[in-house]
Amino acid sequence: MSDSNAVYSDLHLQPIAGQWRAGAAGKVLKVSNPYDGALLLEVPQANRSDLDAAYAEAARVQPQWAALGPSARAQVLHQAVAIFDQRRDEIVDWIIRESGSTRIKALAEWGAARAITLESASFPARVHGRIVESDVPGKESRVYRSALGVVGVISPWNFPLHLTQRSIAPALALGNAVVVKPASDTPVCGGLLLARIFEEAGLPAGVFSVVVGAGSKIGDAFVEHPIPSLITFTGSTPVGQGIGRLASGGQHLKHVALELGGNSPFVVLDDADIEQAVNAAVFGKFLHQGQICMAINRIILDAKVYDAFAQRFVARVKQLKVGDPQSIDTVIGPVINARQLQGLQEKIALARKEGAEPLYEGGLQGNLLAPHVYGEVQAEMDLARNEIFGPLVGLIRARDEAHALALANDSEFGLSSAVFSGNLERGVNFARQVRAGMTHINDVPVNDEANAPFGGEKNSGLGRFNGDWAIDEFTRDHWISLQHRPRQYPF
Ligand code: NAP
Ligand code: MG
Repeated sequence: MSDSNAVYSDLHLQPIAGQWRAGAAGKVLKVSNPYDGALLLEVPQANRSDLDAAYAEAARVQPQWAALGPSARAQVLHQAVAIFDQRRDEIVDWIIRESGSTRIKALAEWGAARAITLESASFPARVHGRIVESDVPGKESRVYRSALGVVGVISPWNFPLHLTQRSIAPALALGNAVVVKPASDTPVCGGLLLARIFEEAGLPAGVFSVVVGAGSKIGDAFVEHPIPSLITFTGSTPVGQGIGRLASGGQHLKHVALELGGNSPFVVLDDADIEQAVNAAVFGKFLHQGQICMAINRIILDAKVYDAFAQRFVARVKQLKVGDPQSIDTVIGPVINARQLQGLQEKIALARKEGAEPLYEGGLQGNLLAPHVYGEVQAEMDLARNEIFGPLVGLIRARDEAHALALANDSEFGLSSAVFSGNLERGVNFARQVRAGMTHINDVPVNDEANAPFGGEKNSGLGRFNGDWAIDEFTRDHWISLQHRPRQYPF
């Protein structure tokens, strides 16, 4: 038990197969602050044998964990919530320093991770088997629901704490054991910190392991391994598609849950409250520098409101404070790393080359990229076609509502979306025709609540997180029938 007053230490060690130890790969991962480049931690990486050990121990201890019963498992989750509260500042500080999150975003992420932990504490009491009717005389048909066994989790760097906890908390609550491979940019928030929290909350050793290693090095082994029966992956579409192929086409078939890229349309119809639509667009685009899978990627404006929106939007965007993410009023902090920054600079060059109209182009200092807004963006331009994942955005002019809908659906992605209208039922009618997992009327596409189904259509993924949907994803149904009296067979 750690002293609850002391901050967690020795975060360079990984919980592998029930012990905190250094990874055996012989290579060190340097974890640095995206804002000022400060070295935060050096983590000796895990190798294939660490991974094998983590999975093997998870499989060994999982039945005992599941057998503990619903109240004991719920208790661990409730204890984790209490630790989230006690250690709020410590957790928020790690999110800011490791992922370049502003204080506003870090607090929101802490809140979302806490919320799914609390929601998951209710899952042990919400897993229900069923008795279903049978046409066979004398047969009783039962459906038992049980843990899947071992779950492998691969998570991204943008909301590392929440997007890892979103899989871990339900998986554990429902009696599974878990092995996590966090993103290499964020091993602390994406795994090591959560492991310390669960250990302090009383989770038995070995039920939750973390292996820190590059996706390109241990990713295939992590997915193809015979032990996990579900791989949940949150990240980019190309990597997710590869994982889907490995998990469903390899030697060991397994369940897969994929939360991938997005290209959220934000549609403003001609009867919308423009002021409020602008307020929403600024937040829904620039929270976490636009590095959110649900972030507004295309702003689609009815031609009747285009000019009024564009003028107010640009005026607001110019005021956003760019700078040190620790400052309470900073809205735009650094992008995660030099590679992502370079990709964004290429997008800026391409937007100009393709003829998008520059409405505002902010500056660049280190990893701090100020907002860039382009007007008259066409559907075939890169800014509209592809996921941006940064503080750039294009405005697209739609002739009318039908055109706005066609533009909104003109994407390989279908994660989240939003529509603004002065008439809520007009909004619903529009929303129901958008091919997406989530559509928010008179709000931003960036919404995630622990009890509401989160997930995408098309190339945005497979499956749903949160609430009852997570109970489905992290358990399996087992049909068991009882023949109460001898059955008559036809031959
Ligand atoms: P990424 O490159 O796909 O990385 C995500 C995770 O996959 C990381 O842990 C990464 O490890 C790992 N990985 C990379 N290659 C792998 C491989 N061959 N096998 C197994 N694992 C591998 O994505 P990212 O750059 O971190 O995140 C940005 C993308 O994620 C965006 O497209 C965004 O839309 C998407 N995203 C989606 C959601 C959602 O809920 N739908 C949420 C957040 C982000 P390394 O870090 O070691 O490479
Ligand atoms: Mg990556």
